[in-house]
Amino acid sequence: RALVDAEAVGDERAVEAALRPRTLDELVGQERVREQLSLMLHAARRRGRTPDHVLLSGPPGLGKTTLAMIIAAEMTVPLRLTSGPAITHAGDLAAILSGLNEGDVLFVDEIHRMARPAEEMLYMAMEDFRVDVVVGKGPGATAIPLELPPFTLVGATTRAGLLPGPLRDRFGFTAHLEFYEPVELERIIRRSAGLLEAPVDDEGCAEIASRSRGTPRIANRLLRRVRDYAQVRADGTGTRAVARAALDLYEVDRSGLDRLDRAVLDALCRRFGGGPVGLSTLAVAVGEERETVEEVAEPFLVRSGFLARTPRGRVATRAAWTHLGLAPPQEPQM
Ligand code: ATP
Repeated sequence: RALVDAEAVGDERAVEAALRPRTLDELVGQERVREQLSLMLHAARRRGRTPDHVLLSGPPGLGKTTLAMIIAAEMTVPLRLTSGPAITHAGDLAAILSGLNEGDVLFVDEIHRMARPAEEMLYMAMEDFRVDVVVGKGPGATAIPLELPPFTLVGATTRAGLLPGPLRDRFGFTAHLEFYEPVELERIIRRSAGLLEAPVDDEGCAEIASRSRGTPRIANRLLRRVRDYAQVRADGTGTRAVARAALDLYEVDRSGLDRLDRAVLDALCRRFGGGPVGLSTLAVAVGEERETVEEVAEPFLVRSGFLARTPRGRVATRAAWTHLGLAPPQEPQM
């Protein structure tokens, strides 16, 4: 099983944390977001105020958590972390909010997966820094107002469109993170290689970058596999040849596609003749949630030119057929 598919657990998380940039200056790429955020934080500091709420959207591994940590660090305030799926009742959120101190940054990952009643409580908390905590049930229930200190909410979601309008509207700043360019990934790999004391030459960096799916998290993971290979099977340096051999061994696609990406393309071409096919049908064919296919696999496949979204459904491009080593149909859909 390809290592890129491996879940980030235990040690993996610790390594990831160690490789995180700590300041906006250390952050690679996302120039516009960085400049916009820098200005906003600077202004908030100058006024001595808590910055506006921030919504970060984009596929996994592009740096949403990293940015939340940087916002807290730049404001020199503590960061509280939670996630949408962990907030199943309004009471869960009330408990988190009532524990905040003035100026704290509260990071809610996968904010689109929060329970509905909690979402409504959050509207009020974001706007008025106050919530009504309901005590008791039925006719005897009473709402106790609770004042909150000003705080900054940083919400992360794979797509801003998944959030209800009223919640989206309460963020003063919204940023969409894009996949990284190969040169940016090379810089990230070089920086991480330095921290990990893993010698990798320029061509080795370029090879890893080109197979990293536009994603820093994957770049850092592949770098460590190349380092393993270089140490055990070569002289310790990650050259292009070493990187190629290592990544082939771990079944990392030459275009950086992961297991799900390949499964989607495979189903699209082999089972549905290249499409057009509806998203739900495609999701069932690969045994995944519709949202996962749409939010995780598709953005990269579209950006790499392997898949197109059309009004009639998903369509494989000529490049997709070629990539799978198949002959495109006589009259290709694209
Ligand atoms: P998820 O939503 O899946 O948690 P994420 O978007 O929050 O993903 P992060 O956890 O912030 O992603 O980043 C993943 C890893 O990638 C981190 O270890 C971090 O070191 C690295 N990384 C992310 N963005 C950058 C960047 N711009 N520069 C350098 N390293 C980065």
